[in-house]
Amino acid sequence: MQTTLSPKVKQSPQAQAIESILRKCVHCGFCNATCPTYQLSGDELDGPRGRIYQMKQYFEGAAANADMLKHLDRCLTCRSCETTCPSGVQYGHLLEIGKEMIEVDLPRSRFDRLSRAAIVRFINSGWLFTASIRLGQSLAWMMPTGLRRSIPARQVALPLSQGQHSRKVLMLAGCVQPTLAPNTNIGASNLLDKLGLEVIELEQNLCCGAAAMHTSEPEYALRQIKQLIDQWWPHIESGAEAIVVTATGCGVSVRDYARLFADDPDYAEKAKKVSSLYRDLIEIAEEHSDQIDPPAAAGRRVAVHTPCTMQHGLGLNNRVERLLAKIGYQICRIEEAHLCCGSAGTYSILQPAISKQLQQNKVQALTVDQPDIIATANIGCQLQLAQGNRTPVVHWIELI
Ligand code: SF4
Ligand code: SF4
Repeated sequence: MQTTLSPKVKQSPQAQAIESILRKCVHCGFCNATCPTYQLSGDELDGPRGRIYQMKQYFEGAAANADMLKHLDRCLTCRSCETTCPSGVQYGHLLEIGKEMIEVDLPRSRFDRLSRAAIVRFINSGWLFTASIRLGQSLAWMMPTGLRRSIPARQVALPLSQGQHSRKVLMLAGCVQPTLAPNTNIGASNLLDKLGLEVIELEQNLCCGAAAMHTSEPEYALRQIKQLIDQWWPHIESGAEAIVVTATGCGVSVRDYARLFADDPDYAEKAKKVSSLYRDLIEIAEEHSDQIDPPAAAGRRVAVHTPCTMQHGLGLNNRVERLLAKIGYQICRIEEAHLCCGSAGTYSILQPAISKQLQQNKVQALTVDQPDIIATANIGCQLQLAQGNRTPVVHWIELI
């Protein structure tokens, strides 16, 4: 696509990235076919091609307007369009730049900014988040059904077995996962221990920065990431050989640190190292699958929901299915595997109507074969799917 950037955009540090991404797009519209929001609304402006076109108009000098921001906000950043695009258009990167610039020209209302900031601070608050969830869980019995189903049931933590080993890996605890699904990292730690890897988990539940990025607070996100890198760094210098992440949403974020800090003189090298050490748990489990015993629940029928971050962000599609099948589970047929479940970080809070519709569609697509269990790889998807149906939803590591 031909582009003529406005003088203001041309002078910005992102000009080169904007131009090269826009020029790759040939406006064919193949991406619309796999875009969840376009499929729901049928509106070109709610599809990737239309969003690219709206951003192009802005980059070329059109004034930012509320309608433009509304259509960009409706994007789930699932990046299904990137997987489909034959020209390799990096839509996600363009959207990140576009939204950041548009929001400078057209600041969000005070209410919008405050509510977004409050959501992130609550999610990242540690004790306040845990106390609120525990209170909700203990009072759930007296709540109306709709509200009760929005509160995840309390997980009884499994025993943790951790010996000392010469090989060490760092593990990201995450901000909400320790409270909502502690058995994910306990299960991962137990597996890694069995494989001869000692897990170092930071005591503070620091966030990977994804939540703040999703709510348009990039500066806050970068501060959070620096804090995380500072905490990891002494362990990396002491020889930690990998950073294991059990939530694919956080994994995409960690893998992106190298790009985010490429121009930061203090953090560029560290961020590059951190991103290079990133491993999703499935990669390690696959490598050592011969050491995994057939689990007690082998033979049960499992439908696998591969999160968008896993299939479109990390390129790890079909890996969970393969591993679970290898150790004895029956993998159920599902439909429209590429579509987002509507969780998408904070999207389910900020765009509840679209999120709910996507949740219902996804549950239907996952249960066509009547599975015993639904397995996934990201805490947000796990909660979203559990709220929308009666089949148990677990992180795949719990099946191991
Ligand atoms: S992003 Fe890719 S698939 Fe979509 S219109 Fe542009 S070139 Fe076509
Ligand atoms: S990231 Fe997902 S929701 Fe956004 S335009 Fe691409 S396919 Fe559509």
